[in-house]
Amino acid sequence: MRTACVVLAAGEGKRIGLRKQFIEFFGKPLFMYSLEKALKLFEEVILVLPADVLHRVSVPPEVKKVEGGKERQDSVLNGILETDAEIVVIHDSARPLASEEMFREVVRLGDYDGKVVAVPSRDTVKEVADKTVLKTVDRSHLWLAQTPQAFKRKVLLECHFRARNEGFYGTDDASLLERYGYKVGVVLGSYWNVKLTYKEDIPFIERLLAKEVGSCGY
Ligand code: C5P
Repeated sequence: MRTACVVLAAGEGKRIGLRKQFIEFFGKPLFMYSLEKALKLFEEVILVLPADVLHRVSVPPEVKKVEGGKERQDSVLNGILETDAEIVVIHDSARPLASEEMFREVVRLGDYDGKVVAVPSRDTVKEVADKTVLKTVDRSHLWLAQTPQAFKRKVLLECHFRARNEGFYGTDDASLLERYGYKVGVVLGSYWNVKLTYKEDIPFIERLLAKEVGSCGY
């Protein structure tokens, strides 16, 4: 089955205050770590970028560059409209440590309409309001979702259109499938598959990438 990978790099980095996908680590912009893995593994690779830099960002010729949207979900839709592959993988370029193994596992959909990489919650989870604990949530069923996430493209497209018509925005793509009754499976991810979210994450991610860069012989 033909598989396309959509690498998301069109965020404005509102929380961190800069476009984190372009921060350089060991001479390469952050988004390139995900893009290179995607190019190794998938027939088609789509990179979603902010409109104003679309033509300035240089990438290998086989990568299709697409303009992003206002929210992450809009960027995903722009990406998946560019392919007719049967399976699409969605990946946040802000997670440069996703392994090739995770990508390989997540696309094996089996009976599922979609699959997500996720890890079981290690910590005790509290429901809190106004700095006061309301209750402790049973964590035995709680998993933390990451990317990559893979889907049957037709199902994902249908869910995106339905969500757009309803003005619904989810925090990931799998949540749209859940909303419309589709079946989503889980693949064990890694606690190191962190997302660059705040400035404080930069040195941590740099240390983790140093190992990866070292083992690749860069
Ligand atoms: O902001 P956050 O870390 O949740 O973004 C997750 C990923 O989605 C990032 O890789 C970011 O570049 C991407 N994104 C996007 N288009 C947006 C917002 C976020 O491609 N409008």
